[in-house]
Order: sequence, then structure tokens, then C-alpha cells
Amino acid sequence: MSTAATDPRRSVPRTDAVLADPRLEAAVAELGPRIVKELVVAALGRVRGAELPAGQVVPAVLEALPHNASGMVPVINATGVLLHTNLGRAALSDAAVASVVAASGTTDVEFDRATGTRARRGRGALAALAQAVPEAGGVHVVNNGAAALVLAATVLAAGREIVVSRGEMVEIGDGFRLPDLLASTGARLREVGTTNRTALADYVDAVGADTGLVLKVHPSNFVVRGFTASVPVADLAPVLRERGVPLVADLGSGLLRRHPLLPDEPDAATALRAGADLVTGSGDKLLGGPQAGLMLGGAELVERLRRHPLARALRVDKLTLAALEATLRGPVAPVVRALEVDADELRARAERIAQSVRDSGCEPAVVPVVVPSAGAVGAGGAPEQPLPSWAVQLPSRWARPLREGTPSVVGRVERGALLLDLRSVQPEQDAALIRALGSLVTASADSPPPAAR
Ligand SMILES: *Cc1c(COP(=O)(O)O)cnc(C)c1O
Repeated sequence: MSTAATDPRRSVPRTDAVLADPRLEAAVAELGPRIVKELVVAALGRVRGAELPAGQVVPAVLEALPHNASGMVPVINATGVLLHTNLGRAALSDAAVASVVAASGTTDVEFDRATGTRARRGRGALAALAQAVPEAGGVHVVNNGAAALVLAATVLAAGREIVVSRGEMVEIGDGFRLPDLLASTGARLREVGTTNRTALADYVDAVGADTGLVLKVHPSNFVVRGFTASVPVADLAPVLRERGVPLVADLGSGLLRRHPLLPDEPDAATALRAGADLVTGSGDKLLGGPQAGLMLGGAELVERLRRHPLARALRVDKLTLAALEATLRGPVAPVVRALEVDADELRARAERIAQSVRDSGCEPAVVPVVVPSAGAVGAGGAPEQPLPSWAVQLPSRWARPLREGTPSVVGRVERGALLLDLRSVQPEQDAALIRALGSLVTASADSPPPAAR
């Protein structure tokens, strides 16, 4: 054989020629030429490296095509954590998804079709929020919970003091700390009390002419136990009202009204009734909607927030407004359904899933078993509230291929085993979960085992 015939570089097709292959036509139409071209270039690189026969370029590209042009992959959340920040927190309801799709083109988000003139942006979502919490005289929505705090701090306390308990100086995750966030607005933090105990007198002593606001932060991702004391909104509010100092309560979770299963989780309606001037929370935590910062409070105060120039920079997208309105008005959000589902039901679903894996003929070493598990709310909500659950237990070496498979499944590795916890899996996803497990059983029957890949 001559060198020419064995040198793979000699037989590398041209990128343009591969891109013009009719088998890639649909992909180019759906995803655009850029994404497909990148994959073609990568595949041709493998041909040059003699890792791929030249004739396999198109099949390799087809295999590597992403789900959609964004490359963001849908993941089945089997961690048992209802609101997993790394997995995008709350899943939207079908009704919310449909509303997002409807709003994604040009839409009347800020337009009155009757008069043909400008209308209040997102009025449907705002009306739905106001209706859900009649205790609020005014409502406003910004980009997220952090943005809500920034807007409140800027409007009420820039260049002045924010009085906050040392027991409520919270890091919300990924290194972001509320005290730093508040200080970034130009407000000065005036810490009162201690880590474990803060009394009403501590607040009263600190409040003065320079106080812009007093902030109550819900310790949403930790608990302090033992010799502790904090001051409830109901005790603080009348004292501050006398002194003309606004009280802002950062609830974190975005719970609008009390939920019987979450007795310790503060909610907007209760905090407002207790006398808070403003409450803030996230849209994508326990409300189960899109990422958003909910602001509810007195009509005048909310109007001040809304009219501040910074409000324009924190403005929410029409897609958010659409999803928020549908979450508020539509069927029960997936996260609330997952919170309320009966553990026995989870057990039955886990049994069905395990049985289907056994039926598909997995090797004896990986026979799935159904085990009791403990789910959690997650993402800054009800840190101490256990959610009884059931899980399908598998060898931990299945974790990675399941994560990387299609559909992608993310479980929880605990004491050397992989748990697929049904508490955070929507019932409509069970079939896809079974498919993901089935394709793995087939793959492992064909060898190599998952761990080797
Ligand atoms: C989650 C949380 C925030 C931040 O809300 P985002 O919507 O993530 O910006 C602020 N405060 C508390 C108490 C939280 O739990």
C-alpha cells in the first residue's frame, strides 16, 4: 500500500461539501448553518486524526446534533430537591410554557388593542399578582429576588442606613452575599444583635434619622438552633411605623399565602398583614413560576419603586410576564404539585419504574430496588422541612451515563448508591425516565458497562 492510500488526510472531504450533504439539510434548516458547521469541522478533525472514517462524517454529525439551537439540554430532576438551582429551579407548568410560546413573537405586552395606544406593561401579570395577595396595595415585578432588594435599597436607603440583624446576614449561593448586594447600592449596613439573638430593643436603639429602612431577611437556607431569638415582623412593624421607618421583609421563597405543609415558611400575605411595608421574593422558588423578583406592599411605596430610573434596568421580559401570569392564574405549578404529592404515590411510581428496568433484563448486579428517601424543597426554602419520598436505587456507576444520556436524568449519589428520587420527578416524566434507564440496560448488555464509558 502506498503512503497516499493510508494517509487519512488525503481522504478528508471539504467542509462545504459535507455541509451540502442532503442528509444534513433538515438540521441546517432547523438549527442554522453555524451549529452544523461546527460539528462538521469537529468531525473532520477526527477524520484527520484517524479517529473516524471519512465515510462516517455525516452520521457522526447527525449523532452529535443538539436538541435545539440553544444547546441547553432538558434534564429530568431526580435529585429529590424540588427547587434545584443548578437545574433551573422551578419547572414551568404546561400552561405557563404555552403562554411563553404565545408571547414569544410580537405581542400586546405593552399595547392596548382597543385604543391602539401604549398600555401598562405586563398588566395581566400584575393584576394576577395583586389578586393573589389582596393584602398588597401595590405590586411590581423585577428580574429576580436580588434585583427586588437592590431596587428597594436604592430607593429607600441609598446614602443612608439599612438596619439588619446579624442573624440574617445571608449568603444566598455561588458566593453572593446579601450584605454585599445591599452595600453595592450605596446604602450602609447597620448590623444589630448577634448571630443567635436579636431583640426588639436592638432595632429600636439603632433606628434614627439616618435609617433608610429596616430589613428582615428570611434565613431561607439555614437554621440557627439553641439559644436563639429573633423579632417577628408583627412586633417590629408598629414600633417602626411610629418612627416613620419602612420595614422590608425579604421572604426569599416567593410563597404568597401560607402553605399547611410548610408551617415555618413565611408568606407575603401574612407578612403584609403583620405590618411589613414591602415584601420581596422570588418567582421561581415556591411560587413555581419563572425567575422574577416579586415586590408587594403599600401602593405609594410600590409606585415610588416603579418610577425610579433603576426600575427600567431591572425590567422583566415579556416571556417572564407571560409565564408569571399563567403560573398565578393557571393550574397548580409543578413544584407545588410535587410538594403536595402523597409519599405512597411516589412509592407506587418507584415500584413501576424499578419493575420496568427488571423487565428489560438488566444484569443481576444492577437489579434496582425501591428505597425510602428524603426529599427537600431546596433553593432557599424550608431548609428544615423533610419531604418523605421514595427512590429507585441503582449502582452509582450509572449516575454519569444517566446524566449524559437522552433524556438526561440527574439523580443523587448517597452512601455509594445512585438514588432516583421520585419527589422531584413530574409524573408525566416517568415514561421518559423508564426510557433512559432502558437504553442504559441495553447498552450495558452490549458492553462496555456504563462505568467504562
Ligand atoms: C433566593 C433568595 C434571594 C435571591 O433571590 P433570587 O431570585 O435568587 O435573586 C434573596 N433572599 C433570600 C432570603 C433568598 O432565599
